[in-house]
Amino acid sequence: MANDKNRKAILVTPEDCIGCRGCQVACKSWNQLPGIKTKNNGTYQNPPDLAGAAFNIIRYNEVPSTENPVRWLFVSRRCMHCDDAGCMKICPAPGALYRTAEGAVAFDRDKCIGCKLCVNACPFDVPRYDAENKVTKCHLCFDRIGAAMQPACVKTCPTGALKFGDRAELIGTAKKQGFKTIYGEQDLGGLGTIYAFKDEPKLYGMKENPTIPYSVIFWHTYLKPLSVIGLGGVVAAAAIHYLAIGPHKEKDEEV
Ligand code: SF4
Ligand code: SF4
Ligand code: SF4
Repeated sequence: MANDKNRKAILVTPEDCIGCRGCQVACKSWNQLPGIKTKNNGTYQNPPDLAGAAFNIIRYNEVPSTENPVRWLFVSRRCMHCDDAGCMKICPAPGALYRTAEGAVAFDRDKCIGCKLCVNACPFDVPRYDAENKVTKCHLCFDRIGAAMQPACVKTCPTGALKFGDRAELIGTAKKQGFKTIYGEQDLGGLGTIYAFKDEPKLYGMKENPTIPYSVIFWHTYLKPLSVIGLGGVVAAAAIHYLAIGPHKEKDEEV
């Protein structure tokens, strides 16, 4: 669980976003991620979803409007840095996913064993894998914020649609500004990526009441301690995968 006192967060306000995707480019640049070959599938959204080499994307939501021909809601999708993180709960490899001092959920690819259990344990379908089968995702730029810099995506955003700072302060300011919903204030113990919405979360394509699968909680509470004592991470991971979740589901990614 994150320490509330030091907890940092990114606040996303979709109505301020112009869909320029500067945040996507900045993330790739800072993290030295390769380009992804994609196909035009009739939308400006590109790539279509998170990928091993895409830690954040802008979702282009077109919603009904009485005032304009088109109402665009550009919603940043990335790791939510959950306080109660399903990925950390299920991960059988010590230190592969870990909590930073600022409350982010970061990863150590050298410790990842490539079991992919975190994919199914994440309520937001976030973790992806690189070409060497190691977990990848947004890490809240822990390397930048530890050096007193803003996350690369936030620093680049030209409109203030992404803001970084003290989590409690960001929430307090957004409430004073009169937003209808602060998504992530309480969900899963409180998210580290929070959203200020003028309408219902479902209009922005957000999951309502995200929860960690019960099988993950069962594994975390009863079986994971056994794996640490004797089975070893890889064997335990393989066993629990079939007992609790089922076979791996591979994502289609062209990198
Ligand atoms: S959004 Fe998913 S990957 Fe990110 S911290 Fe939460 S459970 Fe883990
Ligand atoms: S916080 Fe850093 S790693 Fe996360 S999306 Fe922004 S630039 Fe990428
Ligand atoms: S950089 Fe800012 S304005 Fe541009 S797409 Fe990203 S969040 Fe939106």
